[in-house]
Amino acid sequence: MRTAPDALRHDFRGDIIEPGDPEYAEASRTVLATGSPERVLRAMSVGDAQAAVAFAAAAGQTLAVRGGGHSFSGFGTTDTGTVVDLRDLDHVEVVDLERRLVRVGGGATWGQVCDALARHGLAISSGDTRGVGVGGLTLSGGIGWKVRKHGLALDSLVAAEVVTADAHLRRVSAEEHPDLFWALRGGGGNLGVVTSFEFVAQPTTEVFFGALAFPATEAGTVLQGLADYMRTAPEEVTANVVLANPFAGGPEAPVDIHVAFDGDDPALSALALDPIRGLGTLLSDSVGLRPYGDILEEGVVPPPGIELWTRSAFVERDAVSDALAVLAGVATSERPPVVNLRTVGGAVSRVDAQATAYAHRAAELMVATTLIGPGPVVNGARPALDAVWRSLAPHTCGAYANFLSEADEQDVAAVYPDQTYRRLAAVKGEYDPHNLFARNHNIRPAT
Ligand SMILES: Cc1cc2nc3c(=O)[nH]c(=O)nc-3n(C[C@H](O)[C@H](O)[C@H](O)COP(=O)(O)OP(=O)(O)OC[C@H]3O[C@@H](n4cnc5c(N)ncnc54)[C@H](O)[C@@H]3O)c2cc1C
Repeated sequence: MRTAPDALRHDFRGDIIEPGDPEYAEASRTVLATGSPERVLRAMSVGDAQAAVAFAAAAGQTLAVRGGGHSFSGFGTTDTGTVVDLRDLDHVEVVDLERRLVRVGGGATWGQVCDALARHGLAISSGDTRGVGVGGLTLSGGIGWKVRKHGLALDSLVAAEVVTADAHLRRVSAEEHPDLFWALRGGGGNLGVVTSFEFVAQPTTEVFFGALAFPATEAGTVLQGLADYMRTAPEEVTANVVLANPFAGGPEAPVDIHVAFDGDDPALSALALDPIRGLGTLLSDSVGLRPYGDILEEGVVPPPGIELWTRSAFVERDAVSDALAVLAGVATSERPPVVNLRTVGGAVSRVDAQATAYAHRAAELMVATTLIGPGPVVNGARPALDAVWRSLAPHTCGAYANFLSEADEQDVAAVYPDQTYRRLAAVKGEYDPHNLFARNHNIRPAT
């Protein structure tokens, strides 16, 4: 009888990278985490993904599934067991131009998607960074520059092919395995290895994009004014506010409102963005017409020894003023974290909270704080930040899985409200009863 390693060597056609191999150091780490897996499997095909899953299941190994490797929690690697790295499953194919149907490999990055779709005048609502993986971002949400007009990345998903824990390839959509399709849209990596995603893309060429800066001392009024305005602003407008940027003065750093207007009409853009320009003393304004592909950032890879610690939550309408008051105070305190506020609402809130496993549809804002620095500096700043989150707690709800460095039971409970968790656990019980896919905000399979 074949052993699991024999079967892997026979069935897996991509590279198998093990400790001692020259590529091991690079292959074992992700953008934000180091690991020491027993092997990294570079899948070249769907068959390879199936062989990797079959091996890990038979060998009883931890399996980390890596898409773009940008998880804040380091889910794309592991200290024991096996990593399956999907980077070579990076095809981007326009399947039907008229219906704007696009098929994307499970290991593609949003930069690759943007480049491939630009020549067709298309883009998909996604995130703000080229190197982030389609896999991780989509499976837990996807909040980017088109989010208020076109929803989360997962709202554009119409089908997927997924290798489940029994190593079978399943096509899922509203008609095929609808329970699994529901769960994939928000359930993170809990359900299997997605080898391809099918999205309906949006017509996109150029958009207005840039930053509007205001003095840090005006943070309170500017933030409140922005939140008020976004309730009636055209959905083409999306804003992403950065406070206390350590590279621009920390507590003295200007309030940077990065804005995108999803359209190329200068008059409409001015009409939509001028109310934001008028929120305070405008220090600078870099808004201009850009190809959509150019507005995604390269994304900084932290140098060795520098760590990021991120925590997030959502803010619903009634709590916005109180939450913003806390955040404005934090941003100007001594040694603040980077504070990031993203506007959601719009198309996100028009989807029923039960329609996908992403439940936080009522939120107007997503707030995240990030500590950046050497490990001891980050750890030293944690108690003060924990205190900030205690003051924010009455005004926030839930958590955004894609902006969380930790994944304990409290974090999982914040990501998934009770009802969503129970439904996910039932689907998990059916498709992954032994919890093979556990390197994520983990759902325990219902028995
Ligand atoms: C610099 C930076 C910028 C970011 N910007 C944004 C943003 O604008 N908007 C936003 O919403 N988020 C953003 N994020 C957060 C990002 O969405 C998450 O970190 C996401 O998990 C990254 O996905 P990944 O595939 O790159 O990561 P990975 O570490 O490869 O994977 C993350 C999780 O997804 C699972 N996974 C990945 N691919 C697959 C697959 N094909 N099949 C099954 N499971 C899979 C993994 O197993 C893991 O559990 C950003 C993160 C960083 C570091």
